[in-house]
Amino acid sequence: MDTCKAAVFVGANRPLETQEFPVLPMERGGALVRMQMAAICGTDVHAWHLDATPAPMIFGHENVGVLAEVSPEIETDVLGQRLRPGDRVIFRDAPCGRCFRCAVGESCERTRSYGMLRSDEPPHLRGGFGQYIQLSATPWLLRVPDDVSNERALLSVIGNHTLLNGIERIGGVNLADTVIVQGSGPIGMGALNQALLGGAGRVIVAGAPESRLALARSLGASETVDIADYPTPEARVERALELTGGRGADLVIEASGGLTAFQEGLEMTRFGGRYLVIGQWTDYGPLSANPALLTRKVIRVQGVFSAGPRHIIRSLQAMRGLVDRPVENLITHRYALEDVNEGFEAHERLEAMVAVILPNGEPA
Ligand SMILES: [Zn+2]
Ligand SMILES: [Zn+2]
Repeated sequence: MDTCKAAVFVGANRPLETQEFPVLPMERGGALVRMQMAAICGTDVHAWHLDATPAPMIFGHENVGVLAEVSPEIETDVLGQRLRPGDRVIFRDAPCGRCFRCAVGESCERTRSYGMLRSDEPPHLRGGFGQYIQLSATPWLLRVPDDVSNERALLSVIGNHTLLNGIERIGGVNLADTVIVQGSGPIGMGALNQALLGGAGRVIVAGAPESRLALARSLGASETVDIADYPTPEARVERALELTGGRGADLVIEASGGLTAFQEGLEMTRFGGRYLVIGQWTDYGPLSANPALLTRKVIRVQGVFSAGPRHIIRSLQAMRGLVDRPVENLITHRYALEDVNEGFEAHERLEAMVAVILPNGEPA
């Protein structure tokens, strides 16, 4: 039997361990993917610090790989394109089609996420930080066109798909809109990219450190606000108003997860404007914010997390044909499987925008 290596989470704050696993025969109806590139997501770093994260676990939920074996039942991807071993794919568990959220056209509540499943039970290989990943029966598969790089394919499922979902829900970007993005991490960069694709005239990114803001400017941000220069909520709001003629932005996108971000965003939104809230995943409990701003400024607020299949499909298509800026530069750090812990450190120091693992080395 073949074996392969994977980086394994073995407990909170302990270094990930490189371990050997058997590559078991794939499940009937399943597929075996040889990994090419997996992102170290903020969610992984967060999970790494939590005692509640089940161990052992192979992280890696933003992945691009090559079909090594595929069950005969799986003839095509979700777009009806013929699939063969050797094809590059992005993948997830298929929606169940039977739960309430499936019934109302929302993302399935029963879907298991690769990269968030225990590795001590067969088939073990359930995350992108391994050389192979075993997909369960009838996986959701999308072929990556040959002219799309691994970097672009991966970025289509980092922030960009969620932003597509959020922007769709809030009614689109209006042509020449002024947009403020709160946060300059990977989600903020997805917001910048999707706002520009949607037709924004100006995108202002507020965040830190300067290296991330410089990257944002190189990818189309018209102005940036360094929170080191504007360290208080009041200073940031004042700066945002100054940059928007005293009125505020047509659309504000919260992608920072900051404690005071929600109130700041309401203050940065113009009369009749819209506010898309993505970064507030951590449950801080009730925070103080002034709801009178919603009423008096007639603000439309929309929350969102993750994305559905149609957003992933469009996100990849946009990366292929519509994004003419060098978004590949967002992938700033690349690591071999054995060096995954260095990648976590680079992420924590905010040195990396997106750090990736290449479980099988640099693709030939
Ligand atoms: Zn993630
Ligand atoms: Zn479902």
